[in-house]
Amino acid sequence: MIKYAQVVVNTPLGPLTTKSPEAITFEPPHDDDTAIESAHGDLTLREPQFNGAPNEIVEEGAFPESPYERAFTYSIPERLAAQIALGQLVWVPFGKRELQGIVVSFSAASPVAETKDLDSIVDPRPFLTQVHLDLAQWIAHTYLCTYHEAIRLMLPPGIEQVPEIFIALAPAIARDKLTEKQTALVELLARAGETKLRVLPRDQRAVVDALVKRGLVVKRTEIAPPKAKPKRVKTVRLVAEEPIANLKPAMQAKARAVAALLRAQHNFVWVGVIYAAVECDLAFLRKLETAGIIALEEEEQWRDSLAERTFEIGEPPTLTSEQAAAWQTITTQLGTAAHPAPRAAFLLHGVTGSGKTEIYMRALAHVIAQGKQGIVLVPEIALTPQTIRRFGARFQRMAVIHSRLGIGERFDAWRRCRDGLVDVVIGSRSALFAPLPKLGLIVLDEEHDPSYKQSDTPHYHARDTALELARQVGAAAILGSATPDVETYYRATRGELTLLTLPQRVMGHTQVIQNSEFQIPNSKTHYLDLPPVEIVDLRAELKAGNRSMFSRALQRALARGLAAHEQAILFLNRRGTATFILCRDCGLIFKCKRCNNPMTYHGAGAQLVCHHCNRRDRVPTQCPNCQSARIRYFGTGTEKVETEIQTLFPQARTLRWDLDVTRGQDSHEAILEKFVHRQADILIGTQMIAKGLDLPFVTLVGIISADTALNLPDFRAGERTFQLLTQVAGRAGRSILGGKVIVQTYNPEHYAIQAASTHDYAAFYAREIAFRREQQYPPYSHLIRLLYFAPSEKNAQLETTRLHRLLNERLAQRGLPALDLIGPAPAFFSRVRGEYRYQIILRGADPRALIADLALPLGWRVDVDPVSVL
Ligand code: ADP
Ligand code: ZN
Ligand code: ZN
Repeated sequence: MIKYAQVVVNTPLGPLTTKSPEAITFEPPHDDDTAIESAHGDLTLREPQFNGAPNEIVEEGAFPESPYERAFTYSIPERLAAQIALGQLVWVPFGKRELQGIVVSFSAASPVAETKDLDSIVDPRPFLTQVHLDLAQWIAHTYLCTYHEAIRLMLPPGIEQVPEIFIALAPAIARDKLTEKQTALVELLARAGETKLRVLPRDQRAVVDALVKRGLVVKRTEIAPPKAKPKRVKTVRLVAEEPIANLKPAMQAKARAVAALLRAQHNFVWVGVIYAAVECDLAFLRKLETAGIIALEEEEQWRDSLAERTFEIGEPPTLTSEQAAAWQTITTQLGTAAHPAPRAAFLLHGVTGSGKTEIYMRALAHVIAQGKQGIVLVPEIALTPQTIRRFGARFQRMAVIHSRLGIGERFDAWRRCRDGLVDVVIGSRSALFAPLPKLGLIVLDEEHDPSYKQSDTPHYHARDTALELARQVGAAAILGSATPDVETYYRATRGELTLLTLPQRVMGHTQVIQNSEFQIPNSKTHYLDLPPVEIVDLRAELKAGNRSMFSRALQRALARGLAAHEQAILFLNRRGTATFILCRDCGLIFKCKRCNNPMTYHGAGAQLVCHHCNRRDRVPTQCPNCQSARIRYFGTGTEKVETEIQTLFPQARTLRWDLDVTRGQDSHEAILEKFVHRQADILIGTQMIAKGLDLPFVTLVGIISADTALNLPDFRAGERTFQLLTQVAGRAGRSILGGKVIVQTYNPEHYAIQAASTHDYAAFYAREIAFRREQQYPPYSHLIRLLYFAPSEKNAQLETTRLHRLLNERLAQRGLPALDLIGPAPAFFSRVRGEYRYQIILRGADPRALIADLALPLGWRVDVDPVSVL
């Protein structure tokens, strides 16, 4: 007999609380002011108080299970017994207030003696199915976030309601003996009147409670309506025409006109159609309704981000022999409608332009034919109109989900998915949680892309989560990339994923080229060679007296392309710009004497800092290797590249595409369209240009410097460089016009640059996996990054040192096998938005074992399997 429901409540109390664990594991707190306030200003809770007393850590063994997966138990009152269901959004009492929560399980007995009644059901239709509840639990468990944070990923945006707290001055009470801060708050409230608590600055929020206790300030709670609601439109239906005769004579003519219009439109139109044709208003139509002539009704309307777009429906091309072979392997494992395979996971390793997208679309069509649906994930910046158009041309019932959509559009896309009106969802990371009723396939394009890892809490990885979801529902998964993540490839070599390869580039765009001014003979080949890559040694350029940022080879190639009316892309890596220094004569990078990590330059104090061990050195004036004094900070901006191009080639039409530009009036789409329509010759861009552009007239790609990413203090620096160079190089030579890539570097011998220039993934993988094994980095270990934010550097240092000591003690007590604690040290990006970032990295076979049952103090962030340690 089910009598109790477990509810995950919308409060970020989570594992961060320092209250006694029993009190909050099963039973909601009685006094929850802190809980409510933290629901608004997440930061208050996460911000540690440095008032002398160290933050207490909830000691091990206190939690029956991980503190992260906590739900509260409520009794189900008689009146709700019949309607209550799993996954419903409900209101529950929580301390003195009401909060929303999601029903995650039922039980016959309660783990606590006293339970409160569940209050009411917000929406009888569950928002989550068992599948998503299980997935949320897996996420909380794997990534050490709270169950609620995980559930939140799956709720349609904007449906949750959180109480808003207002504060105001109590009327006429003595205001003496106030502290400075209290006086400031009282004065602010006297000026501003009633104010939302969460808009107050942090230090003022901290003094509110004391003033409330003294009766000087009063609090009031209000529940804001949900932000997303179904959109409804008014419609008009014709009921009967005879009653028109009973109307006042003055109204009859117009009433007849309305009736005639309705008759011509199958007796039913949207109210706007009537307003457009007949001069009348809603009051008039209401009178007609009272007279029994028409009925005014409401109908739900879907908001659809694709509504304005029409797609030309395209026929799938005949597969090339390589594609056909890969497809053959996939179909045998996917099974048939009658005998669907239980599960199949693939890694599709295909060079840029090898026709991977075509395989994805085949597989989607296949599962749709079986009555199921598919999800296609692409990195946010690859979700270009070009990509959407390609899928839209093949699939009619498609929805796009990404973070830039309006809340209403996302809500409706979510509901269309739930109602089975969508076959294919395409989108960025969060689209993985689209509530499709019969998920048959998940595709992750560019599976190596670090943006699949959420950089905020919860730090889930969409790739691993996708594989878990596919496993749970028996769906297939295809991970595709030209440069698979070393860890994914490793899994394929061990048979966890079926490896499919497309080693050759397909000849695309034949039609476009034939319709252009280029005279190209008809070609019979189906494949294109990958563009040749020329490595230019920038040290030699300097020796030869060339001080420009363009090598002589790149200048020649640009001149040739301009003369031939072809297009070029110049790529500039902005990440980590001007943060490391090198010798311009011998290429020496300044490294930490203790860790051999590239040291980074910090302008304040002109110091070099090691982000592993915190060693600090003075910036040298002379190269220890060759005694040269030509030492400089590395980095250039796109603007500077553009200016130099205009000096060298005044006739060239240039376009800049980076974050600075796209913040201005020209959108991504507008810039891209200009380039696609050949209204510019040279596109200068940052990371954005690396993804998915398939442009037939681009015959030259120039990489201004391959070194920036190479020298970042992250063990994945080599891998990221290889990936980026390969992806950027992949933008050239997309048609029979051919193409060429020029890579400028101070490190021409580096294996990542060498392998990228010969398009040799195998060579790169062999070197990289050996390095990982030797250094015991993933996939030979797991990492957990503990990152601490604080407004002052001293506090950051103190707290990280304290936790480090505590973890070491724990480690000794438990005798866990081979677990390294790296740090504490400042993170590479040591200040973000005015806050200092310090970190400790756990490395070992199972670092979770050390902290899974530990509620970390406020201010800490836990990142399991981080994709960056910068
Ligand atoms: P990838 O996703 O591997 O980068 P795409 O699927 O974008 O590769 O294919 C590259 C180009 O080749 C596209 O212009 C695409 O239309 C074309 N293409 C792919 N497969 C075929 C095929 N079987 N026949 C003709 N053209 C193809
Ligand atoms: Zn030197
Ligand atoms: Zn060091």
